[in-house]
Amino acid sequence: MILILAPDTDRESPQYHEMLDHLSRLPGVTARVHQVQGREQTLTEIYLLGNTAALDESEMVALPCVERVVRVSADYRILGRHKDDNRAAHFAYNGVDFSQDNLHVFAGLCAVDTPEHVDQTMRAVAEAGLSCTRMGAYKPRTNPYAFQGHGKSCLPWVFESAGRHGIKVIAMEVTHDGHLEEIHDALEAAGRPTGVMLQIGTRNTQNFELLKHVGRQTDFPVLLKRGFGITLEESLNAAEYLASEGNSRVIFCLRGMKTHLGDPHRNFVDFTHIPVVKRLTRMPVCIDPSHSVGSRVASPDGIMDMMHATAQGVVAGANMILLDVHPAPQKALVDGPQALRLEELPWFLEDVRLAREAYERRRDLAQRFLAEQNRQ
Ligand code: PEP
Ligand code: MN
Repeated sequence: MILILAPDTDRESPQYHEMLDHLSRLPGVTARVHQVQGREQTLTEIYLLGNTAALDESEMVALPCVERVVRVSADYRILGRHKDDNRAAHFAYNGVDFSQDNLHVFAGLCAVDTPEHVDQTMRAVAEAGLSCTRMGAYKPRTNPYAFQGHGKSCLPWVFESAGRHGIKVIAMEVTHDGHLEEIHDALEAAGRPTGVMLQIGTRNTQNFELLKHVGRQTDFPVLLKRGFGITLEESLNAAEYLASEGNSRVIFCLRGMKTHLGDPHRNFVDFTHIPVVKRLTRMPVCIDPSHSVGSRVASPDGIMDMMHATAQGVVAGANMILLDVHPAPQKALVDGPQALRLEELPWFLEDVRLAREAYERRRDLAQRFLAEQNRQ
């Protein structure tokens, strides 16, 4: 059961303590407090775990500070959508709003290589009107002899460049708990010129200890990649691990499934699952066309498969796009063959804009039709 408190409830107030005291006396029930920071207000939600079946909803809603009560009906207690659950599906981070209703493009380097490439990329991203990017410093690689990323040594100049170009959020994969501290310390040392969204890669979707560690901090939001060889349900449970530890600022990323049935694409594109994730959970949904398709091949109409896949995802309501770009893809140390060139970014964004407009018109059409039906 979830108790949703009145916006901006003061956690020092006597009413708040009275309510918590009451909850602590309920037999077999544990209360966990979650704070959700929105742009305008702070929302506090109390998750009641354990023997909640016997609790009386009207009694709970009558407690001080409690505004609404939601009875949890599905597995994803915190991130899921439940019956009569109209909790907001959005969060703000470093001035950027993430929700199931909007769309952000994170274009950047798969792997940080040189300061010049980082700076050229940041400039192109900012000139294209974007305020978010991706920059891999810690790269999990299949081959132990392949470039593993510069690690913490590149963080100072990556963050400095981001700040100089007004980039607000960098998606950056972490593969080990120690990386969180390295990122935190480097951001502090640089004077917090930008923000970081921690990325959990597809190889770590079920690394439960890493999930717990990342979930225990609330400084950074998290981008969780779907596991490439497990069910959707298993990946959504991985997201719930983050939330159950305290961090519910989670974005779920579809990045394709590993099967030869997807050949000749690098992975089998799974963007048809966007509406499924939005229906089952309140997480914004990201698509990664670069790692899904994995190359720059184009159809006879001149449009790259990667752009077709992106458009399909955006037309279906995607909320974020993770895209590999590179100033000189032939020199990239990781995933060069799938990177767009910087001069292709405005074309890509215009294509995305067309698809987003189509999605918004489809959404309006559905809402008009359903409203009309309800009137009849
Ligand atoms: C990445 O985005 O750089 C990456 C390695 O992706 P994935 O974990 O989806 O393979
Ligand atoms: Mn990559």
